[in-house]
Amino acid sequence: MSAVIEVENLHKSYGGTVALDDVSFTVRQGEIFGILGRNGAGKTTAVECLVGLRAPDRGRIRVLGRDPGRDHAELTRRVGVQLQDSRLPERLRVGEAMRLYQSFYPDPADSGELLARLGLAGREKTPYGKLSGGQKQRLAIALALIGRPRIAVLDELTTGLDPHACRDTWDLIAGVRAAGVTIVLVTHFMPEAERLCDRIAVIDAGRVLVTGTPAELLQRAGQPTLEDAFVALTGRTS
Ligand code: ATP
Repeated sequence: MSAVIEVENLHKSYGGTVALDDVSFTVRQGEIFGILGRNGAGKTTAVECLVGLRAPDRGRIRVLGRDPGRDHAELTRRVGVQLQDSRLPERLRVGEAMRLYQSFYPDPADSGELLARLGLAGREKTPYGKLSGGQKQRLAIALALIGRPRIAVLDELTTGLDPHACRDTWDLIAGVRAAGVTIVLVTHFMPEAERLCDRIAVIDAGRVLVTGTPAELLQRAGQPTLEDAFVALTGRTS
């Protein structure tokens, strides 16, 4: 399988805080690639560099063969992003947000269909500020997918969702991947990583400790579950 994302020797510090310390990984076409780590591990910094929202201090990134720092506009059309804590104006209605985002892309997905798949059917007229936390999260996912991206970057996908909505969202993401979209999934939620990811990079204190399939991580750590493997690999709880 060909690589759609290549990250080599990435470094990023904020003042005296080292967020990324020589991070390298490759994401292959069509896979769900998990970036797994506890809070503060450097996951969000890594994906912000990937999508061109942050400049690394050192290192090389290629996304679909392009440099996100230089070719940001071009990549915006091909890479859908749902970032943690992304917020919209309180009074913007769901349907208005969808139409606004549709206008950024040459061949956007059907808004009604996407909202229905995310359990937001009939919410077009609801202002953003009146949505529940879970509904806001699902709208953010819909907006990440509206441009029919080749790659979707999803940061803390299921934060704020109840278990039922979590499972629905996982099914949706599996369906998106089945339609040919490569997915980068940032998470600290082990069942999510175990259920969805083809391969996982475990990141801790800004370093990639290990990359492999969930089964490879279990074998390498000599542990029965991903949760146990994570603790064994990082020396910390998730
Ligand atoms: P979380 O799951 O809590 O979002 P994370 O794994 O995504 O964590 P980052 O948000 O990338 O981790 O943060 C990595 C480190 O960099 C942390 O120590 C964090 O406090 C620090 N950091 C992140 N953004 C900034 C910033 N803008 N200024 C200063 N320090 C920052």
